[in-house]
Amino acid sequence: MLTVSEALAAIRGTVVRGPILSLPLDEALGLILAEVVVSGVDSPPFDKALMDGYAVRFADLTGHRKGTTHEIELTVIEEVTAGRVPGRSVGPGQATRIMTGAPLPAGADVVIPVEDTDFHPFTTSMGDIPSDLGQVRLRDVQQCRPGRFILRQGAAVKQGAEILKPGRMLRAQEIAALAELGFTHVRVTSRPRVGILATGDELVPAGTKPGPGQIQNSNEPMLAAQIQQAGAGPIRLGIARDEREHLRQRILQGLDCDFLLLSGGVSAGKLDLVPSELAAAGVRQVFHKIQMRPGKPLWFGILEPHSGGNPERTVPCYVFGLPGNPVSSMVCCELFVRAALRVWSGIEPEILAPISARLEADHHNDGNRPTYHPAKIAWTADGPTVSVVDWIGSSDLCATVDANCTVLFPAGDRLWCAGARLEVFPW
Ligand code: AMP
Ligand code: MG
Repeated sequence: MLTVSEALAAIRGTVVRGPILSLPLDEALGLILAEVVVSGVDSPPFDKALMDGYAVRFADLTGHRKGTTHEIELTVIEEVTAGRVPGRSVGPGQATRIMTGAPLPAGADVVIPVEDTDFHPFTTSMGDIPSDLGQVRLRDVQQCRPGRFILRQGAAVKQGAEILKPGRMLRAQEIAALAELGFTHVRVTSRPRVGILATGDELVPAGTKPGPGQIQNSNEPMLAAQIQQAGAGPIRLGIARDEREHLRQRILQGLDCDFLLLSGGVSAGKLDLVPSELAAAGVRQVFHKIQMRPGKPLWFGILEPHSGGNPERTVPCYVFGLPGNPVSSMVCCELFVRAALRVWSGIEPEILAPISARLEADHHNDGNRPTYHPAKIAWTADGPTVSVVDWIGSSDLCATVDANCTVLFPAGDRLWCAGARLEVFPW
């Protein structure tokens, strides 16, 4: 039986990177970048004003900064709003009225915010209609230094600068940065298609009232949700009966996906047909059974390209036989399926490191395998703490709604005292 880290190493050694494609930015959220992104442009693309106000020459202000008066009067020669370009350069004694985001006129090297000014328009030949042009009086110019309220071309990003590395998940921030720099498409690993097949004669689908001996199929919606949370695309394949022919048909259908997750039928019961039917379909077992609880019966294998029922297939399908007990399935999906999806997508780091947290209250743990116990992590001034939730075992699914992590208790029968440092895996 493999340890958890041996199983993770086996997954890393088996799974290869999925296909890369170029997608429009609108379709790339949550996917993993597969290229180095180098900016082809400067950002901002021109020197621009950061305030509504007046673009002026710092040299015009310097005498007044040292002198007794802090006020100065300049002639307004033009107005530039965002999206327009200045037509005139600012000479000595002159100012251009400028709006936030507008390009800075030549000659100007500082912007005085409108709040620190008084404007007196010239009267026009049309009578009382105020002109855009006039005299502006600047106050508090002693605050000024050259470049104030100006963002220089390329100050944020220089043309040729590397802005993103491969392996990065594209969030709103990355999408926005790519859009700002003029990218419309981005190269990413495609979204993995993950088939989900529940097995068990006792299962009924959502909306059906269970008869005697029957239960709801909770693993299918649970795994579909986990897969979606992991940024992958779930494909629901329904329920396979514990009957060879039926199970085989469903497995063959599922092997068209990039990943196939089965739940149930992988332990030692009379109708646990999944490992033998996977083998019959050409899926090579990489490991079966892990030293952990919950999750001991986990099965993992690969359908190599050009093998099995579809010789035309050019990419592998990775198959997880997850234990039927819901919490076992959930924990195995978080620890192992997620790791496999990360390797496939090329996300860095491939395996997420646990958080070290202090146990909040004494807890007795007993077992000959390491236990991943549903728990709650909280951030305090003294660092992270973890408290276990009430949980009666691997079928106690509802206990997980109070949990936001699992906490790892090493194997053995012992009392873990409050304050003990333990590894925590956020969910
Ligand atoms: P198995 O691994 O098939 O022996 O199933 C172990 C336990 O998990 C049994 O109590 C099953 O009824 C339960 N179980 C299996 N599959 C599901 C499922 N899809 N949803 C909820 N419980 C399940
Ligand atoms: Mg079963």
